[in-house]
Amino acid sequence: MINTGRLMFDRQLTDAGGGNISVRHNGLIYVTPMMAGEKLRWQLQPDDLIALDENTLEVVENDPTMMTRESMMHLGIYEAIPGVGAVLHAHPRYCLVYAAAKKRLDVYTENFEYFAGGPMECVKEVAGTSPELAKEVISYFYNRRNEIPERAVGALIPNHGIVIAAKDLDEAFTLLDNAEVNAMVGLFQKLL
Ligand SMILES: [Zn+2]
Repeated sequence: MINTGRLMFDRQLTDAGGGNISVRHNGLIYVTPMMAGEKLRWQLQPDDLIALDENTLEVVENDPTMMTRESMMHLGIYEAIPGVGAVLHAHPRYCLVYAAAKKRLDVYTENFEYFAGGPMECVKEVAGTSPELAKEVISYFYNRRNEIPERAVGALIPNHGIVIAAKDLDEAFTLLDNAEVNAMVGLFQKLL
């Protein structure tokens, strides 16, 4: 999770304003803390991670007040879909162009087609970081839950960024990276 956070930041797959990573492992859900970008520049240490009991969702390690507002979205996805092992939320710059335009991200590269299985939808616009947004995102992933054993599933959040749910962090990160390349190709193609 720590390496993935650094890579996400270094590869401009998220900005200093946000993003969060979570992983479910051995009955626990680990989440990255608030201000991971703003204060820590994604140079996290193992002690920065917050661990919750998968069943009770109680914090068992670290400070519960360090949970981000967006953690609710992560926890809701884990609760709704037992096969999810990792959730990523990020603000990738080219994907954000699509998210701000509230447009779905169509397929422009073979790799994106392979990893995403088709276009990436933009969920309905509701107030940012609201419980309604978490509900919108959770139900989007719930409706596509049968795909998750096969491949990572992603969604764009209007004016905000991307959320990916996958069986593990490798799959989630690979889709994030490929979605960003695909978004860049889609945009630059319009210049030709
Ligand atoms: Zn965000």
